Amino acid sequence: ERGYWLQMCRFKTSAPKNFCDYESMRQVYNVQVPQQFNFAKDVLEQWETKEKNGQRSSLPALWWVNDSGEEVKWSFEELGFHSRKLANVLHQVCGLERGDRVFLLLPRVPEWWLVNVACLRTGTVLIPGTSQLTARDIRHRLQSSGAKCVITDETLAPLLDTVASECPSISTKLLLSHRAMHGWGSLTELMGSASDDHVCVDTRSEEAMTIFFTSGTTGSPKMTQHSHCSYGLGLTVNGRYWLDLTEQDVFWNTSDTGWAKSAWSSVFAPWIQGACVFVHHMPRFDSSTVLKTLSSYPITTFCTAPTAYRMLVQDDISRYKFQALEHCLCAGEPINPEVMWKWKELTGLDIYEGYGQTETVLIAGTFKGMKIKPGSFGKASPGYDVQVVDEDGSIVPQGQEGNLGIRVKPDRPFSLFTEYTGEPERTAECFHGDFYLTGDRGMMDEEGYLWFIGRADDVILSAGYRIGPFEVENALIEHPAVAESAVVSSPDPVRGEVVKAFVVLTADFKFRDHKELIQELQTHVKTVTAPYKYPRKIEFVDHLPKTVSGKIRRVELRKKEWGQKTS
Ligand code: ATP
Ligand code: MG
Repeated sequence: ERGYWLQMCRFKTSAPKNFCDYESMRQVYNVQVPQQFNFAKDVLEQWETKEKNGQRSSLPALWWVNDSGEEVKWSFEELGFHSRKLANVLHQVCGLERGDRVFLLLPRVPEWWLVNVACLRTGTVLIPGTSQLTARDIRHRLQSSGAKCVITDETLAPLLDTVASECPSISTKLLLSHRAMHGWGSLTELMGSASDDHVCVDTRSEEAMTIFFTSGTTGSPKMTQHSHCSYGLGLTVNGRYWLDLTEQDVFWNTSDTGWAKSAWSSVFAPWIQGACVFVHHMPRFDSSTVLKTLSSYPITTFCTAPTAYRMLVQDDISRYKFQALEHCLCAGEPINPEVMWKWKELTGLDIYEGYGQTETVLIAGTFKGMKIKPGSFGKASPGYDVQVVDEDGSIVPQGQEGNLGIRVKPDRPFSLFTEYTGEPERTAECFHGDFYLTGDRGMMDEEGYLWFIGRADDVILSAGYRIGPFEVENALIEHPAVAESAVVSSPDPVRGEVVKAFVVLTADFKFRDHKELIQELQTHVKTVTAPYKYPRKIEFVDHLPKTVSGKIRRVELRKKEWGQKTS
C-alpha cells in the first residue's frame, strides 16, 4: 500500500518534463488513502534510503542561504539525523505525546524545517505562525489552540513571555539562540545531547497533523486543521503536476513560514518529489535580491505571490541572466495578465497560476503543457471535482457567475481540511448541498477553465451590474501609470454603490497632474473593458493595505469608504 509513493515518484522521474496532458493527468491520479500514513516515514525516509543507495541526485534536500552569504545544505540523511534528535527532545525532554500541539514561531531558518519533520515523527500537531504576529495575536492563538509547547527565537521570546502567564496550557518553551534565557530550554543544546535514534510514530491517515491560520484577508484568521493524508498525501497534486518537480529540480518558494503556502511549497510538495527545497532568508521581500538569487543559484522552479511579480517586473530584469530557471508559478491572489505578459517578455517564461486555500490543496491551476488563458487560473486539479454552484449547491450553467465549490458528496476528498479548530458551526457553514463553498466567486468556460471574479464580499453591485474588482484592476494595470491598484465599492447617492479604484502610481507618473490622470485612466478602462466597469472614483495612494502574506485587503478600503470600522 505504501509502495505507492515510490511508484508515483518513479513514474514522474522516468517521464520527460512537460509530459503532462490534462486529461491523462486526471485519469492517472487515483490515490488510495492507506490506513496509516506519515510523511516522515513514508516519504522522507524513503528518499533517505534512495540517497544512501546512490539512487537520488546529489542535490541537497534543503539548501538555505541568507543575505550575509551563510549557507546550509542538508541531504535527506542529514535532515533525518537532525530531526530524529529533535523528535527525541520533543518527546523525551519536553514530554510531548502524540496529538499534543506545538506552536512554532520562527522565520525562515533551517530549524523551522527540522521542527516540521520532528512534529511529523512524534505525531504532535504543528501550529506555525508568522514572526510578524503581535502579542495579542499570539495570546489568541495560544489560548484557542491549547498549545503545550512553544518554539521561537530570541527576538520573539520576550513577546511570548508577556502573554505566557495567560496561556496555562504551555508546559515547555524552546528557544533557538546562542544566548540562554530564563525559563527557556536551548533547542541547540538539547539537540546536541539527544540521541539520533528515533522510531517514527505510525500515525493514522485521518489523524490531525497541522493547524494553519488563514491569511486573514477578509477577517480574523481561521485555525484550519489538516490530517496527515490531507496535506501529506494531497499535496502530491501540487508537487508532481503543478510545480512539475523531480529530484533534479531546485525549487524556491518565497512565502513566509507562517502560511499554509509554506507547507504546500516549502515542505510537502517538493519533498514528495524528492526535489531540493531552496530558501533565501530575506528579512523582507526585495526585488533585486530575488533577481540576484535567481541568477546566482541553479534554481529551476520559482513560485512567488502576484504582488511580488508586480514588483519584479518594475525592476531592470535585463541585467540578470537566469542560468537554470525554467518554470515560474504564482498563487494566493489573481495574477494580472499584463504582469504575465511583461514577465514573459523579460524572461521568456510563462507564469503558471494556481488557485487554492489554506483549507485545501491546489484547487485549480494551469499545468505545464496546458494552454494558458491569461485571466483564468486554469482547470480543476486532479482529486477535486470543482464546479460553479449557487447558494443551494446546484451547478449553474457554463459562463454564469456563481460560487466556486468542491464536491464533497458522495465522496469527500481526502485533501480537504478537517475543521476550523473549535468552531463546528463555522465549519458547517462552508458546506451547501453536495459542495464545500470556497467563499470565492467565479465562472467556468466551455473548455472547463475557471475564471476568478472576486471574493464573494468584494464583488461590486452598481446600477444593476455585478462587477468583479479583478477585471477592473487588470484593465488599470495595462496603463503605464499604474503599478498596482485595488478596486472596491463606494457609496453613491444615485447608483447605491460605484466602482472606486485606489491606485499606486509607477515612478514615472508620480508627479503628473492628478486630475488629468484620473480622466486618462477612466478613458483607458472604458476602452479596454466594458464601459460600465470604469472607476467613477479614483484615489492615488502610496501603498495598498495588505496581509503579512502580501494580499490586498480590499475589505479595509471598502469599510473606510462606507464609514465602517475595520477589524
Ligand atoms: P481569510 O480566509 O482569513 O480571509 P484568505 O482567504 O486570504 O484569508 P488563504 O487561505 O491564505 O486565506 O487564501 C485563500 C484565498 O486566496 C482564496 O479563497 C482566494 O480568495 C485567494 N486566492 C488564492 N489563489 C488565487 C488565485 N490564483 N486567484 C484568485 N484568488 C486566489
Ligand atoms: Mg479564506
